[in-house]
Amino acid sequence: MRQAADVHSIETIAVIGAGTMGHGIAQVAGAAGFKVLLNDLNRDALSRGVSAIEKNLAKGIQLGKMTEADSDRTLQQIHGTTNLEECAHADLIVEAVPERLDLKQDMLRQLEVASDQPFVFASNTSSLSITEIARSSRRPENVIGMHFFNPVHIMRLVEIVVGARTSEDTVQTAVGVSKRLRKEPIVVKDVPGFASSRLGVALGLEAMRMLEQGVASARDIDTAMELGYNHPMGPLKLTDVVGLDVRLNIAEYLHRELGSETFRPPEVLRRLVSEGKLGKKTGQGFYNWGNDKEDTRGAHSS
Ligand code: NAD
Repeated sequence: MRQAADVHSIETIAVIGAGTMGHGIAQVAGAAGFKVLLNDLNRDALSRGVSAIEKNLAKGIQLGKMTEADSDRTLQQIHGTTNLEECAHADLIVEAVPERLDLKQDMLRQLEVASDQPFVFASNTSSLSITEIARSSRRPENVIGMHFFNPVHIMRLVEIVVGARTSEDTVQTAVGVSKRLRKEPIVVKDVPGFASSRLGVALGLEAMRMLEQGVASARDIDTAMELGYNHPMGPLKLTDVVGLDVRLNIAEYLHRELGSETFRPPEVLRRLVSEGKLGKKTGQGFYNWGNDKEDTRGAHSS
């Protein structure tokens, strides 16, 4: 039987969840020549994921970053499926389903029941504990975090999160695969928020509190970071891109786990989420997003 945790034995990557992150991970894996299974329980979500990949690739051609042949080769590597069990035969499974511990644990259990063949299971969680996710596994040494960033085909960082029982072989596999995906991996201990979310979410929540206090408009707060600190995107615009609901979940989790007021979700965030204003994906968050284009005239100011 092949070694599950040997980077050279990784040929097939299954990506579970074809949403914002899953479709991007499938795209970069296909582009790197891996055979990819893209799974979603929702057939429409799966079609939307494949369309999003096609759109990204078309834009890549338009910008002269790739040829039609590159795009065709990538698409040929990616197969959509709504059958989770099929994914259990992959060498590496990357899950990108919603941020709920029970959901991720159940999925891992189901996959292990579906196949005796060992696989590396990587969670794309932004904040949940890899050690906790691995508690549902018969092979916790093969469970790791591979935290990609949005949009996956552009952002170069992958945070490799090492759980309490993750083996060194699994770490090396995740690092090796990340490099084959042309990403820059960093290795981080399994602590709440890892390295990136803890810092990034703290900044975003403080920007929201400043907005609530009327310190400046959303646009000016973002501009402070963009021009003053050379951030490519301000914290409020970034929250719109990530999804306000995703950010709220992470903030609640970090507030609970770290017990720090820094992570208490601001009222404006709760209100916008309850109004269904989830950011770019719904067309409205801290900004109005018409036709994928930011309309700052509608920037939310309180
Ligand atoms: P999303 O809501 O865009 O997509 C999730 C997809 O999973 C949906 O298409 C849904 O139909 C599908 N799904 C739900 N249950 C499923 C199941 N049981 N089996 C198969 N598919 C299922 O979510 P997202 O923003 O892509 O986030 C996914 C994960 O990635 C979360 O853990 C999140 O914390 C993490 N993450 C998100 C971002 C981001 O910027 N959005 C960045 C880094 C990490």
